[in-house]
Amino acid sequence: MKKKLLKQMILIGISTAVAAFLLCTGVFYELFRQQILEELQGYGQVLSQSENTVQSGNCVFQKGYRVTVVDSGGIVIYDSNVEDSARMENHSNRPEIREAMKDGEGYDSRLSKTLDRSMFYYAVRMENGSIMRVSKESSSIWGMMFRAMPICVVICIMICVTCVCLSKILTDRLVEPIDRMAGDLQRLNTDDVYPELVPFITTIRKQHENIMKSALMRQQFTANVSHELKTPLTAISGYAELIENGMIPAKDTASYAARIHTNANRLLSLINDIIKLSELDDVENELKPELFDLSGLAGKCIEGLQLTAQKRNVHIQFVGASRCMLYADSSMIEELIYNLCDNAIRYNNPHGKVWVEISVRPGGRPVLTVRDTGIGIPKEALDHVFERFYRVDKSRSKSTGGTGLGLAIVKHIVSRHNAELEISSEQGIGTRISVIFPSQNKE
Ligand code: ATP
Ligand code: MG
Repeated sequence: MKKKLLKQMILIGISTAVAAFLLCTGVFYELFRQQILEELQGYGQVLSQSENTVQSGNCVFQKGYRVTVVDSGGIVIYDSNVEDSARMENHSNRPEIREAMKDGEGYDSRLSKTLDRSMFYYAVRMENGSIMRVSKESSSIWGMMFRAMPICVVICIMICVTCVCLSKILTDRLVEPIDRMAGDLQRLNTDDVYPELVPFITTIRKQHENIMKSALMRQQFTANVSHELKTPLTAISGYAELIENGMIPAKDTASYAARIHTNANRLLSLINDIIKLSELDDVENELKPELFDLSGLAGKCIEGLQLTAQKRNVHIQFVGASRCMLYADSSMIEELIYNLCDNAIRYNNPHGKVWVEISVRPGGRPVLTVRDTGIGIPKEALDHVFERFYRVDKSRSKSTGGTGLGLAIVKHIVSRHNAELEISSEQGIGTRISVIFPSQNKE
């Protein structure tokens, strides 16, 4: 960045110097030209008063001036620089003479034989109709530029040196807080840096905090997963070892095999939940939304859970709208309904009830509510039930095969669909969890 800034500053400096040089030379040259022509005019007019003396050749002119007299037809009668003026070509086509013939006086300036000199002419018509022309040779615009060139080069060099110094000071000032930031972003005082950098620092700090937070979460998650995997595996390994060593009477092997089976199932469901969560965590893993009937899907889930409900002596039923179209990832929504109903059955009392209700809120927002008459969740646990591996009553949840991942999956599915969650619960009375989907009204 430093080099780029330096290059740009030098470029701007030099182009400004060159532009200023060209402009100034142009302006000064014009003033210079006007002054010379004014001088010529003054001199020419004085000479035109004594026309006869001029023509007689007895006149001594000011140094550097050339005087020519031309008759009304353009034939040169007298020229102070040429002895044999009669041999000179006709001058009637010279701009200043043509102008003088027409208007009484005329001016012109033309480049001399060399590029750096110019000839300046002033012509005046005299009373007898002939034209007196006074001319002088002086610097041309190119000559003037050529002479001013060394000064311009010196100015350019001075500008370059100033640019180098200035850009070093400027870039040092710009880069200094960034260097400090690279050193220790967390302890950097935002009062010490220029204001344009503050939003940048804030964003980087936030990102840094998020990275740290998610690293910690991942670490905790890994620790939890290992712990949860270890418990059923230890049990399986223990039971299998007992059978292997013949320490289990033949009549009890079936019950030990059943225990191994239960623990293996627990392991499987845990692994399934972890896979689901990691799929949901992966933002690259896009949703596959489609339009489907939410009531129909809820009915299908209830049917699938009837047997589990019966086993636990719980009555599950569907209430509400018979049809409600929703644009979402149907397999994820099925998983969500299944998890909510599974909890409502699992944390219920014998002869308890579960209602799955589909309704539509004003504004076209479909709502899925799962309500039960179960054991309820204590107030202090309400904020935590959606955390991974969180279980209110570890022993009860474990005895029913819970791993504490169901509601974490629900929360993820809800957030990926931009939906909202509402939970209310009272211990001993029951729990009610609602998922409010975004409006399905087409704009
Ligand atoms: P998993 O669903 O992964 O098999 P889990 O049911 O224990 O295991 P979650 O579904 O996340 O895990 O629920 C977390 C905890 O919240 C449960 O352990 C339970 O204590 C409590 N909970 C969830 N739903 C209810 C409910 N309907 N009634 C009472 N407690 C509930
Ligand atoms: Mg659950």
